[in-house]
Amino acid sequence: MTSTLVAMKESSLPYKVDLFIGGRHQEPSSGEYFDRENPSDKNLKVARVARATAEDVRAAIDSAREAFDTNRGNWVSDHKLREKVLLKVAEMIRSEADMLAEAESLTSGKNIRTSKLGDIPRSADLFEYYAGLATKIFGNSFYLRNGDRVTIVKEPVGVVGAIVPWNFPLVIAARQAAPALAAGCSVVLKPASYTPVTAHKLASYMEKAGVPAGFFNFITGPGAKVGAEIVKSEKVDAITFTGETGTGRWIMEEASHNLKRVALELGGKNPNLVFEEADLEAAATGAVFGAFANSGETCAAGSRLLVQRSIYDKFVGMVKAKVAGLRVGDALSENSDIGPMIAEEHMGKVLGYIQKGKDEHAKLLVGGSQLTQGELKNGYFVAPTLFSDVAPSMTIAREEIFGPVLSVIPFKDEDEAVHIANDTMYGLASGVWGSQARSARVSRKLKAGTVWVNTYYTIPAENPWGGFKQSGIGRENGIYGLEAFLEIKTIYEDSSGAVYKPYFKIVFP
Ligand code: NDP
Repeated sequence: MTSTLVAMKESSLPYKVDLFIGGRHQEPSSGEYFDRENPSDKNLKVARVARATAEDVRAAIDSAREAFDTNRGNWVSDHKLREKVLLKVAEMIRSEADMLAEAESLTSGKNIRTSKLGDIPRSADLFEYYAGLATKIFGNSFYLRNGDRVTIVKEPVGVVGAIVPWNFPLVIAARQAAPALAAGCSVVLKPASYTPVTAHKLASYMEKAGVPAGFFNFITGPGAKVGAEIVKSEKVDAITFTGETGTGRWIMEEASHNLKRVALELGGKNPNLVFEEADLEAAATGAVFGAFANSGETCAAGSRLLVQRSIYDKFVGMVKAKVAGLRVGDALSENSDIGPMIAEEHMGKVLGYIQKGKDEHAKLLVGGSQLTQGELKNGYFVAPTLFSDVAPSMTIAREEIFGPVLSVIPFKDEDEAVHIANDTMYGLASGVWGSQARSARVSRKLKAGTVWVNTYYTIPAENPWGGFKQSGIGRENGIYGLEAFLEIKTIYEDSSGAVYKPYFKIVFP
């Protein structure tokens, strides 16, 4: 290992990840565990992870079902309790922030500054935000012309299956679990197999903060088995899933059997548009951050950089200099900007896309290969890669690469820029750099859940987040993030007293 652990103890590795079912930490019924390695150094095992069986998953779902149906500990009916407990969870995240940041970087490969300044505080923010909303869930009421009263209330949907990807392990666990719990639901959460450590810590915080047994369950194991068992269960009322579009499609199909509610946050191939009048220095900085933050392993990555021809050569030169200056290294090092890819298999996929870019004759300006020299030799490092003169039809301009690869595409005018930007099956995020008038016009035309104007890649807890088209269904974050976990109930009250007098005056003889 090249860097030192400060808050975690190296001697405590590999960290043991057990299951948490019905308020009890327990080993999997099979007794089986699998290893997770450090992607910066594959020789270091960082976690031993419980391989749950179908039986374990069913026990977790049963416990969530029972807790919800019996309103164990008054969780469903007492919103002040939910507020208080979720605030405590946030406090615990903040008090162990350094340890959580190290665990996040050790398992996911994200650089430590991203974990410390981004992921961990953002996760606490989410718990605080939804703690506040727990006491502000209300419907409304009105009278009909005959005097009958209609009252609309919002109630928790029930048992929620929460399935989390590996790129923002704690943030996305928080983004799913905090609003579900705030709404009064019970949760069975499955983290990604590569990155279960911080979500496992979250289970302990839930327990200590006072979430009643059964309202938060934590289960680990392969998605195709453990995740699928949650998705298929008739006892689960809703699924909140973040991950690949292909997995999302499958989940939606399976969920249809008992018409589960589904909230899907899926992939993206996001356009970042730079117009000639933009502040080019700011735009170049934003373009590089937007594409290479979290090593490009983000759904929000601005991986298609669309640049107006009149400034093309100058701007590409500016971006090239910045990409060439990015520092690749151990995720725990304060001096790295780009960490390793999550796993060898994923690195192979990213390198495959880079090869495709070369084969399809995009112009390679920076990077383009795996990095293996010196301290990088035992990790899954890919050089930050910049292609220019990319045609919108090329594979690297169409498919989500999920790595440190940026494709620059030239455009002539606004119409062409909007056309190229929207010519994708995805619609998650986008960016516009230009004058206020231009940005206002273009923002309306972009088919994306988020448009960043003269900035890129800020997702505070308050902002709804989600996609148009095949980037997903529903919104997380913000007030809208609660909706996936609430049902609307209409209570219709007769005002006429003893005589039955239906509103539409249709009466049987
Ligand atoms: P996957 O779809 O492979 O996995 C996501 C989660 O689903 C993991 O916990 C995985 O388990 C589980 N899973 C896999 N197969 C199934 C199944 N058949 N049934 C139920 N669960 C299953 O995505 P990745 O983890 O590879 O994440 C990367 C993807 O996530 C990218 O496409 C990215 O764009 C998207 N993403 C979207 C975000 C958004 O906000 N829109 C945010 C972050 C990522 P296991 O780990 O065990 O395989």
